[in-house]
Amino acid sequence: MSFWDSIKPAKKSPQGTSVELEADQRALSITWTDGAQHRVTARRLRQYCPCAECVEEWSGKRTYEVETIPQDMKIIEVVPTGNYALSFTFGDLHRTGIFNWEYLRELCERPA
Ligand SMILES: [Zn+2]
Repeated sequence: MSFWDSIKPAKKSPQGTSVELEADQRALSITWTDGAQHRVTARRLRQYCPCAECVEEWSGKRTYEVETIPQDMKIIEVVPTGNYALSFTFGDLHRTGIFNWEYLRELCERPA
């Protein structure tokens, strides 16, 4: 590694350029600024919702077992939040989670 490699600016985390909800509403396809493409299920997003209702703020502990989220969880609506995040209305009408791009990418890449 040369000197110049070590002073490159920190890699900017990728953002979604297109987000498509599949016809059955059970999964999203996301295309990223770095060219990657992912498919992530509504169930997985609902399982790992980062909002204060789903994760206890003081302990970071999830308030439910992720396995109890139904297999057929749907996304009813996808709402962009500024240019840094998406929020969703899920089939159980839960809608308080704000998923920033960095977190979405992590969920897409984390093995199930
Ligand atoms: Zn939540």
